Amino acid sequence: MAFCCVVNLPYLQGSNKEPYVILSKKIKNEMTSLNSKYIFSFMLLIFLLLPLYLQAQECSYCGKKITGRYVEASGRYFHPRHFICAGCGKVITGSFGEKDGRFFHPDCYAVKEGLICDYCKKVIKGEYVTSEGKKYHPGCYENNVLAKCYVCGKPLNGEYTIDTYGNKYHSYHSRELSRCDNCGRIISNKTTGGGRAYSDGRDICNLCYKEAVFDNSRINSLMSKVMQRLKTLGLGFNERTISIKGVDRRELKRAAGSRYEENMKGICNTNSRTEYINNHVSKSTKKHEIFVLNGVPSLNIESVIAHELMHAWLNDNTRDDHSSGLREGSCNYISYLYLKTVNSSKSYQLIKQLEEDEDDTYGKGFLKVKSEFENKSLSQLLNYLKKL
Ligand SMILES: [Zn+2]
Ligand SMILES: [Zn+2]
Ligand SMILES: [Zn+2]
Ligand SMILES: [Zn+2]
Ligand SMILES: [Zn+2]
Ligand SMILES: [Zn+2]
Repeated sequence: MAFCCVVNLPYLQGSNKEPYVILSKKIKNEMTSLNSKYIFSFMLLIFLLLPLYLQAQECSYCGKKITGRYVEASGRYFHPRHFICAGCGKVITGSFGEKDGRFFHPDCYAVKEGLICDYCKKVIKGEYVTSEGKKYHPGCYENNVLAKCYVCGKPLNGEYTIDTYGNKYHSYHSRELSRCDNCGRIISNKTTGGGRAYSDGRDICNLCYKEAVFDNSRINSLMSKVMQRLKTLGLGFNERTISIKGVDRRELKRAAGSRYEENMKGICNTNSRTEYINNHVSKSTKKHEIFVLNGVPSLNIESVIAHELMHAWLNDNTRDDHSSGLREGSCNYISYLYLKTVNSSKSYQLIKQLEEDEDDTYGKGFLKVKSEFENKSLSQLLNYLKKL
């Protein structure tokens, strides 16, 4: 390397620093072309970015151009740090609610709007249900506020039915399950612990079956009990002329003959018997044969007995030319008076069934007699029926 320097020295001296100048110029030229390359690139960048910058949205909060990340809400743009909750003044980073062009954290929005679930008392962020002026989370409403189906236990949304016991159930269950012939409840494991089908075609729930009376001597003593009770109310009978038999539906149909009606629970057949002595009437007696549906709880049988006993009384004491509404209404009224003396939740349930019966003859007839005679003595009704 030192040798080389010695050889080249004169040349350097004689060339009057020319090589340096050349070198310097070269570098300068290269530098200049390098600079202009940078400037060109820079200008190109500006040229390319300027339209983007000019197109950039202004922040709705600070009014400055947004060049980086931004938030868009309802057609407006914000610097992320300027997307601020109108409720608490803090930056909104997740979901948000909007009201009158202002943005809120979901919780802040809920508080502002009074969107508090009436069941769990927590804010409602999404959809909600309104019921009787109260707001609920859909889940809180379905699972805790909506009444549950008596049959399947699921919330009662959609069409439902209420039975005479006040139990609500999805109406479609009546298409798949049978109802108890005696109490009208829908028969299922959950509602009645199941039930059974009697051979006469009746479906009886296990609640009714548990107390069902089949025995005829028992039914006879039930009649004595009812007669006793009605006697104390002022309605007497000639006991020896009245007999009773518990029957199934087939036998009841046979006993009622052409008088059989659907859902009939009893019938009173009265036969007149006249005895003659020397072609003269010595004795005219009426015999009453009462038939009641067995296989139901004793109180149901007692109520039917009271009704049929009143038929016996009417056959004995009146010309029986009353309208069917007055006749059946009066007989139901006697059942009603009897049930009132029993004074139990079951008796009031049966009274409710009498009152809610929509039948023109039985239901409306009963309500008419009740409204006219409830505040009067029983003898006033009896005298009215005797047309005294
Ligand atoms: Zn801004
Ligand atoms: Zn907030
Ligand atoms: Zn809730
Ligand atoms: Zn259901
Ligand atoms: Zn039943
Ligand atoms: Zn009747």
